Amino acid sequence: MLTMRNNEDEFEAAFAAFCKRAGLRRTIQRRIIYELFYKARCHLGVEDIMAKISIKNPELRQESIYRILNDFEREGYIRKVRVPGVKKYEYASEKHGHFLCSECGRITDVDTSDIHLPTILLGASDVSITFNGICPNCAKKKK
Ligand SMILES: [Zn+2]
Ligand SMILES: [Zn+2]
Repeated sequence: MLTMRNNEDEFEAAFAAFCKRAGLRRTIQRRIIYELFYKARCHLGVEDIMAKISIKNPELRQESIYRILNDFEREGYIRKVRVPGVKKYEYASEKHGHFLCSECGRITDVDTSDIHLPTILLGASDVSITFNGICPNCAKKKK
């Protein structure tokens, strides 16, 4: 129980510090979306966010979500998931690649720090890597 509360305190402190730094008001809507990315560390599009929160927060509209996501992205809290054709955001953690399943559309983070780049790419300042294929779950179902 104690750790639960500490996590909660940590979250509140992080959210408060973020809003202060960004000059954003601490609204319930911002808090809800901040929390989604803070706790889940996954890839979320506007539809995913609507689906996750609309039952409890029917007043939260799509335009507001877009606006909040834009603010969060500008402040460097989240970034667009750089997978072609995918409109989702993720917590701006360390750089990593993605594996996109062509069956279920699931996006999985891939640690790309061990990938050996050819010499010509050593000076590259911007790299985004996407692997395409079928995830283990879908591969199992196909059998
Ligand atoms: Zn799949
Ligand atoms: Zn990712």
